[in-house]
Amino acid sequence: MKKTYPFDKIEPKWQKYWSNKDLFKMDPDSKKPKYYCLMMFPYPSAALHVGHGRNYIIGDVVARYKIMKGFNVLAPMGWDAFGLPAENAAIQDNSHPKKSTMKNIATMKKQLFEWGIGYDWDREITSCFPDYYRWTQWLFLKLYQRGLCYRKKAAVNWCPSCQTVLANEQVIEGRCERCEALVVEKDLEQWFFKITDYAERLLNDLRLLECWPERVKIMQKNWLGKREGVEIFFPVVGGKQELLSCFTTRVDTIYGVTYMVLAPEHPAIESLIKDAGNKDKIDKFIKDIRLQNKAERLSLEVEKVGMFIDRYVINPMTGEKIPLWIANYVLMEYGTGAVMAVPAHDQRDFEFAKKYNLPIKVVIDNPKNPLDAVLMTEAYIEDGIMTASGQFTGLPNRVAMQKITDYMQKRKIGRRTIHYRLRDWLISRQRYWGAPIPIVYCRSCGIVPVPDRELPVLLPEGVRFRPQGKSPLETQKDFLNTVCPRCKGPARREVDTMDTFVDSSWYFLRYLSPDDNKRAFDSRLVNKWLPVDQYIGGVEHAILHLLYARFITKVLYDLDLINFQEPFKALFTQGMIIKNGAKMSKSKGNVVSPDKLISSYGADTVRVYTLFIGPPEKDAEWNDKGVEGAYRFLGRVWRMVGQILNSKSQILPRSSGQANPKIQELRRKTHQTIKKVSDDMEGDFHFNTAISAIMELVNEIYKFQTDKTQPCPLYSETVKEAIRIVVILLSPFAPHLAEELWQMLGNKPSIFRTPWPSYDPAILKQKEITIVIQINGRLKQRLKFDADVKDSDLKAAALEDEKIKDWIKDRPVKKIVVVPKKLVNIVV
Ligand SMILES: [Zn+2]
Ligand SMILES: [Zn+2]
Repeated sequence: MKKTYPFDKIEPKWQKYWSNKDLFKMDPDSKKPKYYCLMMFPYPSAALHVGHGRNYIIGDVVARYKIMKGFNVLAPMGWDAFGLPAENAAIQDNSHPKKSTMKNIATMKKQLFEWGIGYDWDREITSCFPDYYRWTQWLFLKLYQRGLCYRKKAAVNWCPSCQTVLANEQVIEGRCERCEALVVEKDLEQWFFKITDYAERLLNDLRLLECWPERVKIMQKNWLGKREGVEIFFPVVGGKQELLSCFTTRVDTIYGVTYMVLAPEHPAIESLIKDAGNKDKIDKFIKDIRLQNKAERLSLEVEKVGMFIDRYVINPMTGEKIPLWIANYVLMEYGTGAVMAVPAHDQRDFEFAKKYNLPIKVVIDNPKNPLDAVLMTEAYIEDGIMTASGQFTGLPNRVAMQKITDYMQKRKIGRRTIHYRLRDWLISRQRYWGAPIPIVYCRSCGIVPVPDRELPVLLPEGVRFRPQGKSPLETQKDFLNTVCPRCKGPARREVDTMDTFVDSSWYFLRYLSPDDNKRAFDSRLVNKWLPVDQYIGGVEHAILHLLYARFITKVLYDLDLINFQEPFKALFTQGMIIKNGAKMSKSKGNVVSPDKLISSYGADTVRVYTLFIGPPEKDAEWNDKGVEGAYRFLGRVWRMVGQILNSKSQILPRSSGQANPKIQELRRKTHQTIKKVSDDMEGDFHFNTAISAIMELVNEIYKFQTDKTQPCPLYSETVKEAIRIVVILLSPFAPHLAEELWQMLGNKPSIFRTPWPSYDPAILKQKEITIVIQINGRLKQRLKFDADVKDSDLKAAALEDEKIKDWIKDRPVKKIVVVPKKLVNIVV
């Protein structure tokens, strides 16, 4: 590739300049309006590839643009530095996670610098440093004091290979998200944050998030999974007033219940089966199911297996005896762990009933095509008319639903209730590389929180952290053994560490006062700077990270520490960059490193290509050839400026070109481009169309410069203005080149201290054109229109014209032919 401009000289020069001149340093005393532009802080797990780059480049473009628009911009960067990736990598390389983490941070910082991405590095935070995790521990204690943090034995997902607990959402199709090993279930004492207390608010406040992508809000809504229904109490036959409660959204099908299924984990099972004749068989069955993966158990493809446990419950509406089963397709996590099975009206129940020969009873009939339980091949799940349902027979089922609920409420056999799919947030990890949980266990005082003044609970460095099925910190005796803060007696430290999602649930507050050693954040500053104006990151964090950050923000609000309830006003989730049809990953061998591309084409080319590749919210395929296209374009801009600088002729004043229609046209194009690029910057970040608008303007300038029919076209003031605008509009995308050209054109750097240009709406208007109106091919009228007039408007205007109306009179119009921007012919 021929070198078209000296990017290798230009780029380091300006990178140094911006850094020396503190271009990206937020000014705390500025009177300008604030703009908080935040990128999700990354795991420092490896060197960045071009797919990662998209995120940071988008953020950098927004920050530069906002600086030019006159905002006091805060664009910080930090490191989500604890967690499994670093620990697993360290195990693999036989090093320490701290060492590899610090090395990775240095690599990534260098890469970001070479990309020309600017941050206020004075505010850098690193979540694995004690000066940060001290405050993560403080946050834990705040939740603990407020009753939002508790410990309990829980069946958890256990990855036998990573030797750790995984959250449900880290289990993908039954396998560990990190290592793809099959996940099993295990009972462990765990710490939880009570996020379920906030389910309703997390759902309702989604309405406040107008500048979030709709699909992210839908994902959060589904994750919260609000369901309104009825909890029904079924008395156990032979039990002493024992009740099994069961949640349903379809109380209208209560007369069709033919069996009940419990989750094998249901706490009542132990006592229900203690006298069962086949207890051994039931026990073994339960054990087998618990080895199955939960996600698999829920999937439609997996075979449903169950077992009758020799007990019955009573249907409280009919008094009927109903057999009690256990089955793999019912989980404790959803509803109450008990399902009233209505095989006629639920597909899973239907399949199960067919397999085990359980009765099927139609209670909602299809009004168009009456149902026969014997002939049914699938469940009827639509609405219909109640049948075989006692006093409710004959009602539409939706009406009956309300009446049955009222009836149950009155007799206390059921109650209206709301269920959420959301579970409490399991925050403890049996791993080394995380913030220690600030709790001690004392023989006499029990669970004792570490007092604030004793924070941080330091993570010891010389620990054998290779997984051994228990928390590595347990092997570190001088960490484990401590004194009770309350009674000074011997005590033992909690050895689990916190989920990294706790670290990232509040980091955006710390950027405002990263060195404060008195408090986690400065309420006055965060109240001024938050919510974040623009948050940018991958859609893979659409659910958990964002939900946890929203939750913690609401807790801090309730604690009166902040005055806003949502942390991120606007959210942008960029699509992935793929190569050869797949997500870039080391294992697939399709990773494109930015380093080599930057050394052959320069960072500006990589930036422009990354943005030009497609709408940024969509996935896009990386193409090395496309990089060359971006490179040629930037070379062209370089030559265009050189040409005007090298010309010896005088620049004509604008007035001399005023009458020249081609000059008018170029001015119009220039102002149209300002409008187009500005709109894209403010809207959906469609930088691809912004860049192509700049390319069009460059084409126009070239056409103009090479047009021999014009008098001295090259030196017109209008051409000079157009070139100046190109350089400014290009500056957020190709900042180094723009900065250099700006200086070459005789301006003082930095171009980013220049106000973003505005357009003149009067110039935008297209010149007028004259359209000929014919009737049956004969000229009848001439009308004037804007040059960009649409065919449909031409037609309408022709038919509305008084003179034409007179000509047509009452004759029916047979046909209208439009020659765009020329003529309308009406055939009568
Ligand atoms: Zn794993
Ligand atoms: Zn004690």
